Amino acid sequence: MANNLMVKPGSKVRLKDYNPDANNGWEKDDPRCQSKLSSDLQTMAALQEMLFAENKQSLLIVLQAMDAGGKDGTIKHVLTGLNPQTCDVISFKVPTAEDLAHDFLWRIHKYTPGRGLISVFNRSHYEDVLVVRVHNLVPPEVWKARYDRINEFEYLLAEKGTRVIKFFLHISKEEQRQRLQERLDDPQKHWKISDADVPERELWDDYMKAYEEAMSRCSTSYAPWYVIPANHKWYRNMMVAEIIAKTLKDMNPKWPPPQVDLSKIVIK
Ligand code: ADP
Repeated sequence: MANNLMVKPGSKVRLKDYNPDANNGWEKDDPRCQSKLSSDLQTMAALQEMLFAENKQSLLIVLQAMDAGGKDGTIKHVLTGLNPQTCDVISFKVPTAEDLAHDFLWRIHKYTPGRGLISVFNRSHYEDVLVVRVHNLVPPEVWKARYDRINEFEYLLAEKGTRVIKFFLHISKEEQRQRLQERLDDPQKHWKISDADVPERELWDDYMKAYEEAMSRCSTSYAPWYVIPANHKWYRNMMVAEIIAKTLKDMNPKWPPPQVDLSKIVIK
């Protein structure tokens, strides 16, 4: 179902060609939705254990979205199926002075997953060609060079056995308005509101342009981008779970052989 969500390497992304409302004809209360999600979560958990036992490959999942785009909800509802012992979630915030004293990938590299492990990036190195570009935090010649650096970095990870998959949770501007309004209306969501929400929203078109270029330049066979229709949270969860499960199947981890001679072990 999620096959057409991958950005074909070398293609030019136009976000207006991707419908954030898409649900492929499914309905939220169709029992098949819940059973499909549960089955993909089970597949993810089973393959995560094999990945860890095999101790050869790693998986890096990148989540990017506009404010209120559903990164936290996706982590809560989809990654809940994973064993926290072999999975890390890392949230990248405004870089510290120490981060800024280094190249932009320095703070990212140390959080990439080791052998057998899964890491989830809540925001990522892509902020360095998104918020940084939109707010002119560095001169254009600096951020423009970063697409190539990112591709090289992700290639380096791939060479070492790390699969990278990148999700853009695509909501419409109207859906963002409704979600931000809900936050204002619900005291339990007030903590999520920041001063930057409204000014950032005014830069919506600039962000879309920046996302389009990031996905056009950096969707590769070894680290593809997926544009996830995300106005319907339940559909978003289904698609992300399907793609993660499929990626893990494709990685095809194998149980390793025993490290000891089992015939010599007798349990009395
Ligand atoms: P989130 O919105 O992810 O839940 P925050 O509200 O703490 O978390 O926002 C994190 C902020 O950090 C975002 O505004 C994001 O644009 C900013 N940020 C992340 N990476 C960078 C970066 N490399 N340069 C500048 N700002 C960044």
